[in-house]
Amino acid sequence: MEKKQLHFLVVTFPFQGHINPALQLAKRLALENSSHVTFSTTISAHRHMFPSLSEASSLETKDELITYIPFSDGHDEASTGVIADFNGYMSDFNQIGSRSLSEIIGNLNSSGHPVSCVIHTLLLPWAADVARDHGISSALYWIQPATVFAIYYHYYNGYGDIIKANRHDPSYLVELPGLRPCKLKDLPSFVTQSFDEADPFHSIYLSFDQLFQSLLKERTDKSKPIVLVNTFAALEAKELAIFNDLEMLPIGPLLPLMINQNNESGNGGSLFRHDEKGYLQWLDSKPENSVVYVSFGSLAAVRKDQLEELLNGLEDSGRPYIWVVRKDNRVEGVDFERAKNGMVVEWCNQVKVLSHSSVGCFVTHCGWNSVLESLSCGVVMVGAPRLSDQTINARLIEEVWGVGVRAELSEDGVMERKELMRCLDVVMSDGAAAQMRKMAVFWKEKAREATRKGGPSDCNLIALVNSI
Ligand code: UDP
Repeated sequence: MEKKQLHFLVVTFPFQGHINPALQLAKRLALENSSHVTFSTTISAHRHMFPSLSEASSLETKDELITYIPFSDGHDEASTGVIADFNGYMSDFNQIGSRSLSEIIGNLNSSGHPVSCVIHTLLLPWAADVARDHGISSALYWIQPATVFAIYYHYYNGYGDIIKANRHDPSYLVELPGLRPCKLKDLPSFVTQSFDEADPFHSIYLSFDQLFQSLLKERTDKSKPIVLVNTFAALEAKELAIFNDLEMLPIGPLLPLMINQNNESGNGGSLFRHDEKGYLQWLDSKPENSVVYVSFGSLAAVRKDQLEELLNGLEDSGRPYIWVVRKDNRVEGVDFERAKNGMVVEWCNQVKVLSHSSVGCFVTHCGWNSVLESLSCGVVMVGAPRLSDQTINARLIEEVWGVGVRAELSEDGVMERKELMRCLDVVMSDGAAAQMRKMAVFWKEKAREATRKGGPSDCNLIALVNSI
């Protein structure tokens, strides 16, 4: 009997670090068994992804693989960049977003393209509830390491009180089942700080709480909730095996270079305009492994003192560099014209930069996409984490996977120029760097093995498709 065509609806929060892995998953699903895939993020993010649509009467668009239908969060005209009142925004996002998503599913169901499965990323646990209301199955796509999933899971299932009770002791050793002990200061800031109602990200704390409650609702006698994870089994085998009552499926790393596609539409998922300086040609002119790549991701508002320390440290290091400073982060008074040894760009194709043979290391805020991209390209890292999962990711990079160092930040969270130079020496010079580079090549190969046809991550995706 011919199998009916599946229709996956992939729904994501409007952050670049959520859109990128969600889009890669959508593409990968569309390539599998020619499933029908609809991708949905907020209208404002969608407009940035497809700038040419702003004048069009309908926002729905298509490319060779995917249909894109955005949902409203009540902020349809918003620009990219820092959200001033995040908790206020989240209240609109949750209420208006869930209503709008429900309408989209209703329309798809009545238009002859019924949705078979909703896959959602973080910060929209209500997507599972909306799917359930429509009688459709759903799966969570966890876009951080499995280690971080396990920390949150334990926090919201019995270990929250002990962590709260010790919150003023950053060196308190937290012991959670199945995980290596870790200092309280390395846990995600959304559990150590944001549980406080006055915290500017308290809504994230609540959203994770709801997510874990919602996961348990999906559990039945016959089936386990599905959690797709953008990691690979070789990297986090033990952490992926902690929960018997969940179907943890590592499907990563899902990156453009793994999928090998030439069918990018719009801005290729980017919310920011790519800098037109010829940075790839510039990289071509540099010796192998010589260039320092610096980026603190799509969200961080890097402070003036940090920008200056970076500029001074990079110049003093005497090494060539590419440094991403987004347009919305060009703080007045920082003289980027002083960048003589390097190139300061507004936004680049990070995966292409990291895959370039001239790049020798990545100075990163340790957002999970950046870390996974660096691991998959075999590039060693200097970590300067600040919040969310960045601190635990930095620890994994240094202590567990052996592919970099974590910088010591000053009391007010700045990586000072001397510290940057020290870290660059550690990862770029001959001594300890040789071993780190060896490990970087090791993980790069493992990442490729995971995603090749018939590899473990590839098989997990096929298992998902077959289970719907
Ligand atoms: N990125 C990019 N160009 C840049 C800087 C970043 O394409 O100039 C991408 C990067 O490849 C990654 C994402 O933006 O996929 C950032 O995600 P991450 O999880 O590292 O950090 P976040 O932005 O969420 O803090």
